[in-house]
Amino acid sequence: MYEKEMDALRKLYEAGKYEMAMYKDKIADVHCFDSYEEFQKIPFAYKDEIRQTEAFERTTCKKDEVYGIFSSSGTTGKKTYYVYSKKDKEVHEEFVNTFYSELGIMPEDLGGVFAPIDTGVMAHTMMWQFTTRGAGYVNCPVPSPENMVDLITSVPVTVVATRPDVVSTIAYNEEWIKAAQGSKVKKLILGGGFMSRGRRKLLETAWDAEVYNMFGMSEMFGPMAGECRRKNGQHYLNQYLFIELIDPVSKKPVKEGEAGVAVYSTLWDKGFPLLRYWTDDLMSISYEKCACGSELPRIFYHGRLGDCITVGDRRIFPVMLEEILMSYGFIHDYQAEQYGQKVVVSIEKPEDAEIPEAMAAKIRELFGCEVEIRTLLPGGLHYGGHGKRFFERKEQA
Ligand SMILES: [Zn+2]
Repeated sequence: MYEKEMDALRKLYEAGKYEMAMYKDKIADVHCFDSYEEFQKIPFAYKDEIRQTEAFERTTCKKDEVYGIFSSSGTTGKKTYYVYSKKDKEVHEEFVNTFYSELGIMPEDLGGVFAPIDTGVMAHTMMWQFTTRGAGYVNCPVPSPENMVDLITSVPVTVVATRPDVVSTIAYNEEWIKAAQGSKVKKLILGGGFMSRGRRKLLETAWDAEVYNMFGMSEMFGPMAGECRRKNGQHYLNQYLFIELIDPVSKKPVKEGEAGVAVYSTLWDKGFPLLRYWTDDLMSISYEKCACGSELPRIFYHGRLGDCITVGDRRIFPVMLEEILMSYGFIHDYQAEQYGQKVVVSIEKPEDAEIPEAMAAKIRELFGCEVEIRTLLPGGLHYGGHGKRFFERKEQA
């Protein structure tokens, strides 16, 4: 089982790529890469271990192999910096050429990158994805609806790269919608978590554009999986990325087809190699050939374990609430907080909008416990895009 993956990992091990504080002890006592059975003895690596080390303590990359230093977004805490090697850039280019040629991104396209240009890897990989395809790009580092409208009406942007919540703000105002629909933008390539059916529909309509969802993490290099034109799961390059799906309770692999927590090991000579990196991302994987013709496996992302609310033995993810809200035309931000046996759902809405009883009933049914619905005006939740939507609160309401 997983012979190819074990071969790739063994080569990296023999080349001394795990000779760093984070991994040294984990691989000391086992014949880690002889078989998948042995490999499973390697303890998981966690985000905290990354936080406790500096970027250059997590790489065996020589100085002349460094492509750049980039970081996580830092919106949920202190930024974490990562060393990206020239080889990482090459793998990213292969990713882009595999996925973006399928989506028809061509040299004659003009990309719009709606993201702040800081040290965060996301904006940089969004720029690289256009240059890799030979397309030009233009940045919108403060992507307010006004700034986005100004850009797409001033220059003929054809493809936009950003997070879903950023382009959603266009749908809040008829004038902005008109500008987006009248623009040359024909594709939105989005990254940053889940994509509900309701939000996809909202964006397709407001922008009159195709919506494709990408999946990524800064520990990897930004995007690591992406939708094809069939939009049925996100393909990933399994020659570079080994994903184990692990039961969060037993810590054993789940049965094929079942959802589990993604544990990543990278299979190329990566600046910062990942070895059994526990992510908290709950997903399932399909190895069946896709209708697009690709045999690359597809992930189906459910959400982060840390972001779900647990009622009894049921896990409720933000995407489930979003699906209900969007289907009733509530397109602004929302949040759910759990206080013991009670859940408080906060919904942003325009002043004159009423909460339909049928929607309230569906929300109560979703959580299956006492639910209080609070409303506030759009913008009231100050949702930062990368922040959490579901919380467990220890204190009493
Ligand atoms: Zn496909």
